[in-house]
Amino acid sequence: MSTSETTERTDVAIVGGGAAGLLAAIWAARTHPQRQIVLLDGAKRIGAKILIAGGGRCNVTNEKVTPQDYCGSTPNAIRKVLSRFTQPQTIEFFAQLGVKLKREPTGKLFPVTDQAKTVLEALLAEVKRLGIEIRLNHRVENIKVVTDTLGESSFEINGPGGHLVCQQIVLATGGKSVPKTGSDGHGLELARRLGHELTPQIFPALVPLQLASQDPLTQLSGIALPVKLELTEVSGKRLAVVEGDLLLTHKGLSGPAVLDMSRHWLAASDERDVRLGASWLPDVSAEALQEELLSLGKRTVRAFLRERLPDRLVDHLLSTASVRPEQTGVDLTKAQRKAIGNVVIAYPLNVTGTLGFKVAEVTAGGVPLSQIDLKTMQSRLVPGLYFCGEICDVDGRIGGFNFQWAWSSGYVVGVSL
Ligand SMILES: Cc1cc2nc3c(=O)[nH]c(=O)nc-3n(C[C@H](O)[C@H](O)[C@H](O)COP(=O)(O)OP(=O)(O)OC[C@H]3O[C@@H](n4cnc5c(N)ncnc54)[C@H](O)[C@@H]3O)c2cc1C
Repeated sequence: MSTSETTERTDVAIVGGGAAGLLAAIWAARTHPQRQIVLLDGAKRIGAKILIAGGGRCNVTNEKVTPQDYCGSTPNAIRKVLSRFTQPQTIEFFAQLGVKLKREPTGKLFPVTDQAKTVLEALLAEVKRLGIEIRLNHRVENIKVVTDTLGESSFEINGPGGHLVCQQIVLATGGKSVPKTGSDGHGLELARRLGHELTPQIFPALVPLQLASQDPLTQLSGIALPVKLELTEVSGKRLAVVEGDLLLTHKGLSGPAVLDMSRHWLAASDERDVRLGASWLPDVSAEALQEELLSLGKRTVRAFLRERLPDRLVDHLLSTASVRPEQTGVDLTKAQRKAIGNVVIAYPLNVTGTLGFKVAEVTAGGVPLSQIDLKTMQSRLVPGLYFCGEICDVDGRIGGFNFQWAWSSGYVVGVSL
């Protein structure tokens, strides 16, 4: 933005240089080389989230991406955007930039270098090649729609860096997760001030869940195992089921299954009383476990469970079920077998909250897709205003889906500007 008294102008201003803003800038410059594009970012360094993603390896996309991998806006709306720049197109796009991706057994795609900086450096090299100007340390505080005497409207962008007038503006400011990266939610406020109604709930997603400090599970920190998590209403109605790995920490619960469950728990627990249960033996049904317990004979229940589960967890489960570890199958009462079944297959997790936006990988909620023309990602309310990336009401599960949303929506903006 200009620090001089004269008003500086550009054709397009992209606010936010994360995954979505970079894609929008690249595709805008490729599609309309004659247009002047300025990318403004409040951070000192660009692409912080790309660098920390996937444990520093950046899970760029997934081998299979469907609208069902997302929550927030309707699957149909999400499909419209994803289908414009699909996962194969993403692979091809990065290959052209010199970034080869490899598929891991989970279906996640990473750069073959296993380094997120390969992805960021390739994007920045393309930005440079296309002559796009990036201005760092340029946080946008306010955006005003101004109409001239001929009735032409433009946007006046203000911030500590000065002011800039543009014909079209893209809000690619991300959500509220990990605010120290620069995505502190101010972009959502800018959208609201420009007339957009945000979703009633904006909350952290892909976030560890907290347990009370005296919860015995916090004593088992370090244990990781595959589980099945089930979220139900008090009536027993099932709201969500997630299978995957869980990690017990000194604060509570983490790991992919927990992160994926977190947005369902938060969305539901805000409105009603819900229960979150864990099956520590996700492949065993309640009935099958009862049959195995019945046929234990003279083996101890502890030995039986320790073959399948970590020792410390087994001791905790048996004590919760009020069963002595040395009890053998023949000693077990029917009530004890039932109690073991309850703690092994439907262990009640007493979640007290989440670790919040500070560590959440993504933001649930934002600008609803119903307020955006999905052919162009232009606002239905403010002509010339565009959205892409996490600012939109779309959040994906773990596995590269959030970047795929950023690439796809950024592409649609870029070719439409
Ligand atoms: C720890 C972690 C790991 C993750 N790992 C993965 C992964 O492996 N795979 C995956 O698919 N997803 C992952 N995600 C999610 C993914 O990183 C995000 O969904 C994605 O980066 C969002 O891109 P974006 O461009 O919409 O927003 P962001 O990347 O958040 O970028 C927004 C940019 O806008 C700037 N900005 C904000 N407000 C203003 C303002 N007012 N003025 C100027 N600039 C502003 C910010 O500085 C920032 O640079 C991870 C997230 C985290 C936090």
